[in-house]
Amino acid sequence: MPEPVQTLVLHAHLLTMAGDGVGYMADGAVAVRNGVIAAVGPTDDLASRFVADEVIDATNRALLPGLVDVHMHTPWAVVRGVAQDVANWMQKGLAPYSRHMGDEHALAGTRLNVLEGIRAGTTTFGDYDYPQDAWAQVFADYGVRACLTPTINAMPDGGMAGWKLGDLYPLDEAVYRRKRDAALALVDNWQGAADGRITTMLGPQGPDMLTTEQLLEVKRLAQARGLRIHMHTAQGDREIEQMEKRFGLRTPAYLAEIGYLDEQLLAVHLTEATDEEAELIAHSGASMALCSGSIGIIDGIVPPAKVFRDAGGAVGLGSDQAAGNNCNNIFNEMKLTALFNKIKYRDPTVMPAGEVLRMATIEGARAIGLDDRIGSLEAGKQADLILADLTALNLTPVLQDPIRTLVPNLVYAGTGHEVTDVMVAGRFLLRNGVILTADEQAVQAAAQAQGEALSRLVADDPVHKEMALLEAMERGML
Ligand SMILES: [Zn+2]
Repeated sequence: MPEPVQTLVLHAHLLTMAGDGVGYMADGAVAVRNGVIAAVGPTDDLASRFVADEVIDATNRALLPGLVDVHMHTPWAVVRGVAQDVANWMQKGLAPYSRHMGDEHALAGTRLNVLEGIRAGTTTFGDYDYPQDAWAQVFADYGVRACLTPTINAMPDGGMAGWKLGDLYPLDEAVYRRKRDAALALVDNWQGAADGRITTMLGPQGPDMLTTEQLLEVKRLAQARGLRIHMHTAQGDREIEQMEKRFGLRTPAYLAEIGYLDEQLLAVHLTEATDEEAELIAHSGASMALCSGSIGIIDGIVPPAKVFRDAGGAVGLGSDQAAGNNCNNIFNEMKLTALFNKIKYRDPTVMPAGEVLRMATIEGARAIGLDDRIGSLEAGKQADLILADLTALNLTPVLQDPIRTLVPNLVYAGTGHEVTDVMVAGRFLLRNGVILTADEQAVQAAAQAQGEALSRLVADDPVHKEMALLEAMERGML
């Protein structure tokens, strides 16, 4: 007697990402029961073992695990493209917008960004933001998986807009306490919520934005809750300058000295880390978030992810923020990561397609501590999976013999728009190209309106008047 399951996907070009490779199987199948993968194997085998409520014929489609975006700031999608091609990005590009961003702008950006991610095959969103319950509610409502990090810092309100380059920023204990408590409230409300789809981390925004005592307290609070620390680390010359002025040490040496380098840490960017510093952090057991597109645009730097991986560390891919990336699309990150690292090392064998696909799936899951649940298609794991249409012109032809071209074509020719179906925990969020869990047109219209509203607010900000984008417009370049 065949066993009953909810969904059976048959006849796919299957990439399980199980084991050490990409786990390719021609004519592969996946059975889903109660939100979990019941079985993975050849179509002949699964079609005889199971009877399903819904059978999907995935002929000419790739079936792979949902993509994991380990580091994002989704609210920034509401002002996509306001900060690029500019030096001192945070102060000269982002600061006026960050000072005026309100809850409704931020939520409109988050909603837009989650739908953008779903359409490009992202199923796990590693988002980082100031905590509000409505933010977490978006991920719960839209059906995606999210690893949410509420930001904690001791920076006085108004942020960097009033701060002069080169000065030490003031750190305020009362601000820290308020943000710490808000973060803990979010964590306590949402850890494990939405049937376990929502998990959390604690997020000291950067080692330069809290005192040592505050950083250590956040670590203890995270440990007591079994949570990881998600922190921007060596994220630019601004941070390194602050660290040297305040503590007399570069960030990695400082973190080693205060006992912050261990498997609890997800270190984001490592923009300014030397190879030796990247090795030090990787050897501690910490993970790394690599945001190739964002750091390329913000700093013109390729972070030391190759060294980090060579030292045994897990590296996940992050799309960071759309103010200056300018998209949240892990297909884009895969291609940029492979290309940037080949160029950096003048070596085309660095970061081949299969490795970056692992970084976008199982290795990203490992980087955020969810690899026991997601990142590969294996019996017992959560049913987070995507289908990509291989009849798209840019993925044609699909060659199998004597050479297989599926993985390099997904990574180097795929755009994310080939994704037709997205399932999280057994539920379809995108089916045959249609978003099922949100009103896409309404989300888009609200993002347009809120983006325009936020732009009007910054128009009179004196900092804004010095912005590089305005100069570029005056020169007829925008
Ligand atoms: Zn970030």
